[in-house]
Amino acid sequence: MERAAKKYKTRSNIVNYIINNKTTSKVEISKELNLSMPTVLSNVNGLIEEGIVVENGEYESTGGRKAKGMSINPVYRYAVGLMITANHLVIALVNMRYEVEKEERIRMKFSPESSYCMNVAELVEKFINGMDIKDRILGVGISIPGIINRERHMIEKSHALQLENYSLSFFEQAFSYPVYFENDANAAMNAENLNKYKNAVYLSLNNTLGGAFCINGKLFQGQAQKAGEFGHMILFPGGRRCYCGKEGCADAYCAASVLVDDKHETLEQFMKSIGTGDKLVDDKWDKYLTDLAILISNIRMAYDTDIILGGEVGGYLSEHMMALGEKVMSYNNFDTDIRYLKNCANKREASAVGAAKYFLYEFIKNI
Ligand SMILES: [Zn+2]
Repeated sequence: MERAAKKYKTRSNIVNYIINNKTTSKVEISKELNLSMPTVLSNVNGLIEEGIVVENGEYESTGGRKAKGMSINPVYRYAVGLMITANHLVIALVNMRYEVEKEERIRMKFSPESSYCMNVAELVEKFINGMDIKDRILGVGISIPGIINRERHMIEKSHALQLENYSLSFFEQAFSYPVYFENDANAAMNAENLNKYKNAVYLSLNNTLGGAFCINGKLFQGQAQKAGEFGHMILFPGGRRCYCGKEGCADAYCAASVLVDDKHETLEQFMKSIGTGDKLVDDKWDKYLTDLAILISNIRMAYDTDIILGGEVGGYLSEHMMALGEKVMSYNNFDTDIRYLKNCANKREASAVGAAKYFLYEFIKNI
């Protein structure tokens, strides 16, 4: 590696370590990253001078000696994340610690017109107005429920937004910041601490079923950016018709939309009525968990990694892990427990957070 490149890499590794460990010390960095003390000192002093790292009082290091603690300056840079769905827009402001500082969910119908993009850009301006952070915003990450072709600057296909070969240029022109587009499931996976997971599958249980997976902490996109489309794996041949045209796809059984009906118009309403004596609701939920368990055990067989349960339904599943776990175990006699099943970290705004994190990652890479 070239000397200059190596220098950058060391600096960015140190910054990553400080972010991931909240508070740390120079001694700890030297030990954990296997760097000489002079290297740590010159890098950390530079980072403190530039305001990227801040010292914050005393810190009990492993040796028992009190050392000066330090952490990342969360307000040094920001990124904005947007989650676009058919009926909502979520805006999230994410800081250098990957924390959501502000979040807003707006009911707003998607439209392919350029005026929609202008409206979204205006809402983002309003969202950050008065915060005095404009010059510290790295970019706007936009999560889209569909397949994105970055080379052609297009949404190739989105069932949720009813788009095919939709040019992203309206969005690119509407913002005065750099923009980046990401598939919603990929973005939701990015919202997780991939440093912790390394290898994992993300199952996004929204109105359509999305999926993503990462290997060595990096998203695997696939040959045509379609990796992780678990929703269109066939669960029951000849079964319910899926929006993709096939019969028996997992989407037709495990998407959040399966649970809503005329009586329970929102997922929240449905989830609230579980266990309240409505037999139809309880049976429907039991069948849903059974079908989800089949999908989960198939994915576990293929990947043998942690499986993160995300999306709208994923946000509720933490209270139903016993019931789900029992069913998963009955389809899988290779594992002795279900510790590989994880609940998502961000319940509602995951895709917006993940899309924003792209800009922070890129910034830190070249810090
Ligand atoms: Zn399908």
